[in-house]
Amino acid sequence: MTTNGSSSLSEHMKALCRAPRTPGSPGYLESQIYICETLQSLGFDVLEQRFSPLLVGPSLNIYARLDSSAGSSEKGILLGGHYETLCSSGVGADDNASAVAVILELARRFKENPPATPVTFCFFDLEENYRLGGLRGSEAFASHFADRFQEVIILDLVGGHFAPHMESAYFQFGDSRPPLQHSDLEFMHLPIKVLEPLGAWGSMGPRSDYYAFRKRGVPYTFLSSGTPWYYHTENDNLDRIDFEKMEKLCEVLEKEIYKGCSSTPHIPSWNSFHRLTELISKTPQLQSKELQLMMERKAEPDRLQMVRFHIQVLKKLREFGPSLWAA
Ligand SMILES: [Zn+2]
Repeated sequence: MTTNGSSSLSEHMKALCRAPRTPGSPGYLESQIYICETLQSLGFDVLEQRFSPLLVGPSLNIYARLDSSAGSSEKGILLGGHYETLCSSGVGADDNASAVAVILELARRFKENPPATPVTFCFFDLEENYRLGGLRGSEAFASHFADRFQEVIILDLVGGHFAPHMESAYFQFGDSRPPLQHSDLEFMHLPIKVLEPLGAWGSMGPRSDYYAFRKRGVPYTFLSSGTPWYYHTENDNLDRIDFEKMEKLCEVLEKEIYKGCSSTPHIPSWNSFHRLTELISKTPQLQSKELQLMMERKAEPDRLQMVRFHIQVLKKLREFGPSLWAA
């Protein structure tokens, strides 16, 4: 049976982006109802994990499991992403309604035709950094259930364009899968240090819900189209979303999950980092001597260089915004 996910992707996005999903807000509560009702309409038993972190109101992770034909005791794959938004993010279309929509769409496809490996679809609360830090939904979940999974796939911001010349790109971190393949997409399988140049406790430490599982030794893959100029601003709305790109991501993930888990680690390569600097330096506003040096060096950049890389690229993405594409 052929499935066309694009219609439900945009339906999910419109429903989730009616209002900001800041914890405690009407939009947040509506999004919880939407996720639960969508899963129920697909025939899933919806499970909830309630937790009450210090200084933030009652919080809720929502999840549903699809057992394999082999039975329910087998370890499975977790496919997850956070659903709530930061106060500054407006309706958070890319961050992170995009991941919720992709996960709901995959839940629909897998319900029709279940993979051999059990899959849990998880929608985390409190990923964003409120009082006393972020990543608290995935931490609450992993602290109880991490040992149920042989692999975790986390999505965060999967509907956007990081920079010009990178419209078809996804960043891929973690070693549970080789670089993903799709004829129209480019997956850059990068060392986690590119994302976390300051290590676990610096301001550029863990960046999304993969961390709670990584620290417990669960093999993981983290996928993102990156943090573009509108990241954590009111401009993160439906106009920014590339629905075709999300549809292609669904195709890739569907195929990957049918393959099951790999038993060998797939180490990311610094070559992808040089490919990234090459793409970025095609945009004149993002060019710099430092980037040029990193490209020429063809070796693992040191920590200081990685920090400078972040500061230069991310700051300039913000500074130039959409005019980057006009260059
Ligand atoms: Zn996010």
